[in-house]
Amino acid sequence: MSGRYGGGGRRHGGRPDHQGRGRPEEPEIRGRRDDARLREELRRMSGSSYGRYKSLRGDWDFGDFTLSIDRVQSDPFAPPSRISVRVPADVVALPDHAWRSPVRRRATADYLVRRAYRVLKGAKLRIDAGEQEVIERASGQIEQGDLLLRLGIELPGHGRKIDARTAESELCERLPDMVDALRWDELDQDEAVAFADTVEDTVALRAELPALGLVAFVADGSVLPRHSGVSDRPMDDSKVVPFTAPESLRASVKLPHRGEVSGLGIPEGITLIVGGGFHGKSTLLHALERGVYDHIPGDGRELVVTRPDAVKIRAEEGRRVERTDVSAFVRNLPTGADTGDFRSDNASGSTSQAANISESLEAGSTTLLVDEDTTATNLMIRDTRMQALVHGDREPLTPFVDLVRPLHRDHGVSTVLVMGGSGDYFDVADNVVMLDGYRPYDVTERARELSSERTDATYHAPAHRVVDQRSVNANARGRTKLKRRDMDVLTFGETDIDVRHLAQLVDPGQIVGVGLALRLLSEDGLLGDDRSLAEALDALDERLANDGVAALGRGFAGDYALPRRFEIAAALNRLRTLRVRALRRT
Ligand code: ADP
Ligand code: MG
Repeated sequence: MSGRYGGGGRRHGGRPDHQGRGRPEEPEIRGRRDDARLREELRRMSGSSYGRYKSLRGDWDFGDFTLSIDRVQSDPFAPPSRISVRVPADVVALPDHAWRSPVRRRATADYLVRRAYRVLKGAKLRIDAGEQEVIERASGQIEQGDLLLRLGIELPGHGRKIDARTAESELCERLPDMVDALRWDELDQDEAVAFADTVEDTVALRAELPALGLVAFVADGSVLPRHSGVSDRPMDDSKVVPFTAPESLRASVKLPHRGEVSGLGIPEGITLIVGGGFHGKSTLLHALERGVYDHIPGDGRELVVTRPDAVKIRAEEGRRVERTDVSAFVRNLPTGADTGDFRSDNASGSTSQAANISESLEAGSTTLLVDEDTTATNLMIRDTRMQALVHGDREPLTPFVDLVRPLHRDHGVSTVLVMGGSGDYFDVADNVVMLDGYRPYDVTERARELSSERTDATYHAPAHRVVDQRSVNANARGRTKLKRRDMDVLTFGETDIDVRHLAQLVDPGQIVGVGLALRLLSEDGLLGDDRSLAEALDALDERLANDGVAALGRGFAGDYALPRRFEIAAALNRLRTLRVRALRRT
């Protein structure tokens, strides 16, 4: 497992120095500040009290690079200290093709961070590196050809005394060795180029989807199943049935590096994935969920892509819902609640799923991914016998099966749905793919023969919400508090946000990134000026497009990675303090 440490961090409001006021008794070291001086100072500190490390803060000129000691832990058990390293363009010497385009820049930075991670194995220095996905992260950035790295270090101590010898070997030997290992001349250049080529092909493939009328593409030969429930690495080759598209749904795309690739094209509209239990349906849907991200070479899903705005929809009993319009799905609740303006501190399976759909559309999704394994059955289907027993005004729910066609026809929203347990969706599906022994077959014609007439309901777009900016507050006791617990919880100020069911939040750093994005939305006034949530997300996306992931950080001392707007919105929607000021109906 790489990079799954820390993630939390604190920033003291308004002060440029993340340590707060700094201790008057530990002034920064003045005068010549190069690596030789750093060694001298460390030796001089040997055996002193741990707090003296603080005097090392600031920049150190190592000749080939600059080390900045940004934040020093106050004792050996506190979260690691934070440092950054800037390696100038002429030292790291990346060729233009490795970084001039935004896509290759992101890929090469990611490649370098992974290499740094490997080189630092066993060190007290650590760098946050990705796993199967290539996601822009704060730990490694290329700026005008310079390489900027952000790392953590557990500054070593013997009890509460400074262990200067170990500190010296980490900062003055391992760190320069790591920088050396990242020079272009020292890299496996073929591998580095192939890494960027792979990412560039994936991005090109995803960009082709709209022109081809597709919402997703799965190349022949892709490896979808994962090593295990707790490892996202590919399943061992010997066990895998590689993906092969059925002829009738085959699409081909020419990619910049790999040339022509062929595979399953999932068209816009409604696609049903059927098949017996254990035949690979959920595995395919999981791959589509992840297809909004780029994958590393060898992952098996490098050429599995989905529209970037695809959102996984599921039931999520118990979540909070704040003034969300779920009236297309839910009406006439026994409580008499207005479902056009629905709120609950403890939503049911069906209302939580309805809210998840409305909120995803509000945030701008045009592709929904649904798996029967994680849905509320009563929101998905209602068969004729149940209709005969419980009918008309007694049933508050309009099932998704009656809305999925109007969603596409009237709102341009496509759905890919796994449903092995009911044939109701035969009536509404444009395409039906059956998985049999992990192989996909086009069974659209047979399903059509088994289908019947179905009268659609009408779907109206959910209201846009205007958020009360003050209800989104990252501060606890006067300072920013953002912390993550595993992949489950984001602590945002005084509140815990449950993010465990956000299937497309895939990297620990993204969870912190979501917290930073929420902070930015509220503290920079993006949620103000009567902007709707969707407009605020547009404004945020624009900043991220211009300034990259670093736009989120602003003095934040921990690691973080770039989340999508859909997960940012989803976390906001799960924030228990969230207040919506107004609804705007279109
Ligand atoms: P379903 O949703 O149809 O019940 P799953 O997608 O959960 O089935 O897959 C069942 C099992 O089969 C999982 O353990 C999964 O890892 C494995 N599996 C899925 N696709 C493949 C494949 N192409 N080759 C080998 N094993 C696979
Ligand atoms: Mg399943």
